[in-house]
Amino acid sequence: MNGGKEIVMSNQLTQEKKEELDFLRRTRFEFRRAIQFINEKVKPTDEGMVDYMEQAFRQSSVRFPIYMDNGSIKVFTGYRVHHSRLFEPTKGGIRYSPDVDLNMINALAFEMTLKCFVVDLPYGGAKGGVCCDPKKMSRQELDRLTRRYTYEIMPMIGPDLDVPAPDIGTSEREMGIIYDTYMMFNPNAPYATAVVTGKPLSIGGSKGRKEATAQGGAFVLEEAVGKRHVKGLASLKDATVIVQGFGNVGFNIANILHENYQCRIVGICDSGGGIYYKKGFDPKDVLNYKAQSPNRSIVGYNELEPKNANQMLTSACDILVPAAKENQLLGSFAKEIKAKVILELANGPTSNLAHEILVDQGVYILPDILANAGGVTVSYFEWLQNKAGENWDLSTVKDKLRLKMTSAYGSIVDTAEKYDLDMRKAAYVFATNKMIEVASCRGIFP
Ligand code: NAD
Repeated sequence: MNGGKEIVMSNQLTQEKKEELDFLRRTRFEFRRAIQFINEKVKPTDEGMVDYMEQAFRQSSVRFPIYMDNGSIKVFTGYRVHHSRLFEPTKGGIRYSPDVDLNMINALAFEMTLKCFVVDLPYGGAKGGVCCDPKKMSRQELDRLTRRYTYEIMPMIGPDLDVPAPDIGTSEREMGIIYDTYMMFNPNAPYATAVVTGKPLSIGGSKGRKEATAQGGAFVLEEAVGKRHVKGLASLKDATVIVQGFGNVGFNIANILHENYQCRIVGICDSGGGIYYKKGFDPKDVLNYKAQSPNRSIVGYNELEPKNANQMLTSACDILVPAAKENQLLGSFAKEIKAKVILELANGPTSNLAHEILVDQGVYILPDILANAGGVTVSYFEWLQNKAGENWDLSTVKDKLRLKMTSAYGSIVDTAEKYDLDMRKAAYVFATNKMIEVASCRGIFP
């Protein structure tokens, strides 16, 4: 009998855990909560309109073969989701990772829609991805995969239709290949470089795009600390930082906070594990080590003892920066997190349960749809430059990015203060309210 009970209980736990980890469910829950709030405090919204705004309007799933280096054929599954057509083109990254599925891509596309409203960009949200493990594939295999995936989603992309960008597992190399493949089939397309952003500089990429997500996050953090919104943290100088993820976003935020703000980067982790050093790391040294290490990981740097994910996320620091992937800060250990502020550069790193616990503890959370919007903002700048045949210098890009991020931060703080909300709820209310406004102005076709 007892054993049976235990099994039932563990199944219930699994169900609860499953729900905590369901990123799409969480995004929709937060959107619905914002709608409910707006219905009560601002103006009721038609339920049909809510349904229209919530669900993706176009999604594609493709299966395609490529030749592997050993001559065998392997079939991959890829996706592209266009979430909102309130503004077009749609915009969103492409992820290469073994855990990519349609649910995840839908959640990320929805977040892109909200993010674009937060930073006031005229784009709908989109996202794409391929279920694959880029760490286990050769350069040539990845190039073939990128060309074939681009071919499969070709009817869905275009400079005025949908514009991809990098995300986990992809970089400017893949963006260059997407552009080249698109050009092979659309040689006379006007402003064709604008079909994808995050490209190499030599083919129309923007200065400052590679570090844009991190730089945008740093501007938001600077505002939050400068305006004394973070309890117990009056200055970034000497503030201690732990960064989870050491790819494009993770390395760049560590480097920017170290070089430009004199923060102490005391902890870094990637998928191989973490390292902690009280005196602080020079992120460039750690990156050099990672580039030469056989498993392309930071683990082993200076022979420091490796730590696991939970140890890292709960170690002492002022600022915690999740910059890896979704579902990393969970309810089960949220109470042990010591940071004063969390800068969410990853998409969806914090579960609802963890968020509530952390807010109750007085931790200031800068939510993903605000904190990491610097990436899509400089992608927008790249798209504008491509359309106008211009090439802005780095200081122009940085000045414009700072303006966008500080203005978005101000809007979310105003919303939070006006309605007495935490920053995540305020960001959702702000973005959802703007979405309702645009949907109402456009009306329903026909
Ligand atoms: P990336 O592929 O360059 O790097 C990802 C890093 O996370 C790698 O270092 C990897 O080892 C690490 N990682 C993976 N799983 C981990 C785990 N369980 N624990 C610790 N580390 C882990 O990807 P990126 O472009 O830097 O993106 C990181 C995050 O930022 C993602 O959530 C992405 O959606 C988000 N984001 C990226 C951009 C962008 O412009 N690239 C824009 C907005 C948001």
